[in-house]
Amino acid sequence: MMKKKYLDRLRIDPGERVNLNTIDTKGIPARNQTISGTETAKERAEELLEASRAELAKAQGLLWANNIYSILIILQGMDTAGKDGTIKHVMSGINPQGCRVHSFGVPTEEELDHDFLWRTTLKLPGRGEIGIFNRSYYEELLVVKVHPEVLARQRIPPGKRGQKFWEARYEDINAFERYLTRNGTIILKFFLHISKEEQRERLLERLDNGEKYWKFSSGDLAEREYWEQYQEAYERMLERTSSKEAPWYVIPADYKWLAWTLVADIISSRIQALDLHYPIVSDEKLGEIRKAQDLLRDQR
Ligand code: AMP
Ligand code: MG
Repeated sequence: MMKKKYLDRLRIDPGERVNLNTIDTKGIPARNQTISGTETAKERAEELLEASRAELAKAQGLLWANNIYSILIILQGMDTAGKDGTIKHVMSGINPQGCRVHSFGVPTEEELDHDFLWRTTLKLPGRGEIGIFNRSYYEELLVVKVHPEVLARQRIPPGKRGQKFWEARYEDINAFERYLTRNGTIILKFFLHISKEEQRERLLERLDNGEKYWKFSSGDLAEREYWEQYQEAYERMLERTSSKEAPWYVIPADYKWLAWTLVADIISSRIQALDLHYPIVSDEKLGEIRKAQDLLRDQR
């Protein structure tokens, strides 16, 4: 299978410095512009999405049959970045039996009574499954960092909440992901990167379109006031938690069709790289299969 070099350019390498202002929200970083925001690019991306969906469905069948690896997909992004739409459009071809989606909102009292990885750990995918986290424990480095009052509600032991505190959280998350990886979980993390202007337009659309009213929360406008703080929290998160085993991809997300295509392509390429095959059955089992065939044919 063709190696898709352009996908590598969306990945944050361990130790790489990240400045989101310099990362395009509308296209893939220059050179060999496979796709960008033009009409022909849109058609091309839609074809690619169709192909990636088909590849993904096939890859999922193999994943399920092998029952060794699980895939954990993490989606993060500002409000309106398109997390829900990405799940809907990328996963539409997949067998629901092997795929589960979990959304994480404001923690409940019970969740706050546990360590911050507890609630997501309960929802991790089993072997053979694809698990999708719509928001995740990464909120612990985002909303919790941007709003000190949210951290204050966590009832963690007293102490300073400075640089060292956050370093420890990066470290804990990296260690947790390394542990999961060693146990057969393949982790792929996507930051859906939209511009502030695109968010303005999408919020306005929610306010103009009766079918989208339900999506609007006045909290979204309040959070928009913290745009810069969030971008900075995202930058540090991307820098500190993108590892070889669990990389972050920054997905240009101002064009939804482009974001969907890229995410689908990255996931299906990653599963294909596992080079899975349908399990080979033993001669004994093959004998049983032949006998069963004969038996059923004779019953006609
Ligand atoms: P939505 O994804 O639109 O349903 O919103 C979910 C909300 O839950 C967002 O405003 C997040 O900031 C918030 N949220 C998610 N995880 C946490 C967390 N660990 N602590 C506090 N708020 C969170
Ligand atoms: Mg929301």
